[in-house]
Amino acid sequence: MPEVLEVESFRRAAEAVVGRRVKAVTHADPLVVDASVADLVVDRRILAARRHGKVLTLDLGANRRVEAAIDLHFGMAGRIVVDGRSPIDELVYAASDDDRWLRFGLLFGRGRLVISDPRRFARVTPSRDGAGLGPDVWSVDRRTFRARLNGRRGPVKATLLDQSVVAGLGNMLVDEILWRVGIDPRRSVSTLTPEEVAEIHATTKRVLEQLDRRGGSHAGDLSVEHRRRGEFCPRDGAELSRGTVGGRTTFWCPRHQG
Ligand SMILES: [Zn+2]
Repeated sequence: MPEVLEVESFRRAAEAVVGRRVKAVTHADPLVVDASVADLVVDRRILAARRHGKVLTLDLGANRRVEAAIDLHFGMAGRIVVDGRSPIDELVYAASDDDRWLRFGLLFGRGRLVISDPRRFARVTPSRDGAGLGPDVWSVDRRTFRARLNGRRGPVKATLLDQSVVAGLGNMLVDEILWRVGIDPRRSVSTLTPEEVAEIHATTKRVLEQLDRRGGSHAGDLSVEHRRRGEFCPRDGAELSRGTVGGRTTFWCPRHQG
């Protein structure tokens, strides 16, 4: 599932179309693409590709003046493909570059940008400019991060997954972060000490920088190969626990995460 790291790689790929004028919208799956999007983009130039959490926003207009903006949400398995290339290996999501999975396309005089999504959970809408989202997890400072968690209830994992608290984290990253910090994902967020919150914040930054270099959310130390029943903690060898936390399949170490 695309998390902040994957969407940042989509944003970098979309930089290639900045300056290009949209000739037409293609492959507009009505379930994925809001009906008003074509009118917002056709005959306008892409002026910028921005990211907030897991949302990629394209600014459009003329002569550097922004006249419209659209949000791209990638859902469970959406990927961006620019001029025939995607920054995400199709094997990672077991997705295909088959034309049947194309749900949205921007056709330029030269080249195109498309969303490929076998699951159809991607969405393309007029931009909401971050409304309803917490601060972006990659840039949020420690004081703001602490303030966002303050006064919350419920499992720490569910809180970190809540995009209105802090935007960008998904299932794989949260499991990796809590495993590294040594905090049980089921623990109530209200029991975290200020030191633990600071540690989660610092570890999140480290994990994002490191996994960005390694190629994505799947490249953590508690990576895909350990996310199976009967696997062992890479740190201390305890058998990993598996359960549903925050509505998501969760892995944690019963020995060092407390
Ligand atoms: Zn362990």
